[in-house]
Amino acid sequence: MKAVCWHGSTDVRVDTIPDPKILNPRDAIVKITSTAICGSDLHIYDGYIPTMEKGDVLGHEFMGEIVEVGSSVKNVKIGDRVVVPFTIACGSCFFCQKKLTSLCDNSNPNAWVAETLMGYTPSGLFGYSHMLGGYAGGQAEYARVPFADFGLFKIPDGLTDEQVLFLTDIFPTGYMAAENCNIQPDDIVAIWGCGPVGQFAIKSAYMLGASRVIAIDRVPERLQMAKDQCKAEVLNYEEVDVGEALKEMTGGRGPDACMDAVGMEAHGKGLEGFYDEAKQALRLETDRPTALRQVIVACRKGGTVSIPGVYGGFIDKMPMGAAMNKGLTFKMGQTHVHRYLQPLLEHIQNGDIDPSFVITHRMKLEEAPHGYEIFKHKKDNCIKVVLNP
Ligand SMILES: [Zn+2]
Ligand SMILES: [Zn+2]
Repeated sequence: MKAVCWHGSTDVRVDTIPDPKILNPRDAIVKITSTAICGSDLHIYDGYIPTMEKGDVLGHEFMGEIVEVGSSVKNVKIGDRVVVPFTIACGSCFFCQKKLTSLCDNSNPNAWVAETLMGYTPSGLFGYSHMLGGYAGGQAEYARVPFADFGLFKIPDGLTDEQVLFLTDIFPTGYMAAENCNIQPDDIVAIWGCGPVGQFAIKSAYMLGASRVIAIDRVPERLQMAKDQCKAEVLNYEEVDVGEALKEMTGGRGPDACMDAVGMEAHGKGLEGFYDEAKQALRLETDRPTALRQVIVACRKGGTVSIPGVYGGFIDKMPMGAAMNKGLTFKMGQTHVHRYLQPLLEHIQNGDIDPSFVITHRMKLEEAPHGYEIFKHKKDNCIKVVLNP
């Protein structure tokens, strides 16, 4: 089959590799009809995710049709049209039973690597390094899905791939990030980062009752989308002092919740930006937390900080004094996709939201290297790329 394979920093290629096989009686094989490139794929693309190996298949946002099932699979069958959560979960461990599926204890065969770095391992992820399971991803013609009974969700007739594809990650991720803001009536939420997750976070914050959402970015077409499609008030951080602007917009009190939907490759300004870029380049700091620092400082006293942005390792110059003295609450984590998938599917069916609004580019799987290139450099107004094998 054809698959998008990682070969090193900014080097992805479409290779021909062996088709996946059933390895465990609980597996299924999915023939992929649609898959997408995610902002978190760019952290791999840029070489910042450890334990990637040459030839690893990328991609964790994919859907398609079941073409083969293992002998103990009961809930799904050949021919079913399904979406696949990017977090791999067993459905029966301590964490899965608490619906914390991104923390599943049974889906990372390389748990010891993550345990060395983090104490305990999160769940395995598709296409996201050997430390997180070494599973082949879904930017391919076929993928093997473990725990098929728990990890495959059937799609009802009448919905297009583009309407449901983002249930695999970015829609639930934006939604959980908004839920993590602990939104109360009349709350003002500020969101750093207007990539696809940021866009879904804005819509979700309104769905959960926020009175105002203020979105921060520097890319004009992303700010435009946040304003036109998601009804956010927007700030361009290259044009205004975000901290001052937020104070003014909130009567001097600050936003009730602040969200970092940027993560480890934030762009910094001035000396601080130089410090982080230099330290990260020398691998003295794994992540650049510019957005996170601003989020902590801008949040009102007693407010909530929500972090859907991906961090991989260690950060410097955390304003811990601000966080502690202002009494902030922090909520974060990889998304418990399985918990949100069905309710959000119902929102799509009811017509409350059509997630396809974020798609700016559609291309064939073979064109993936070009897709990564324009997405990374935000060329051609690229916000979200969908690949069709
Ligand atoms: Zn993703
Ligand atoms: Zn589990």
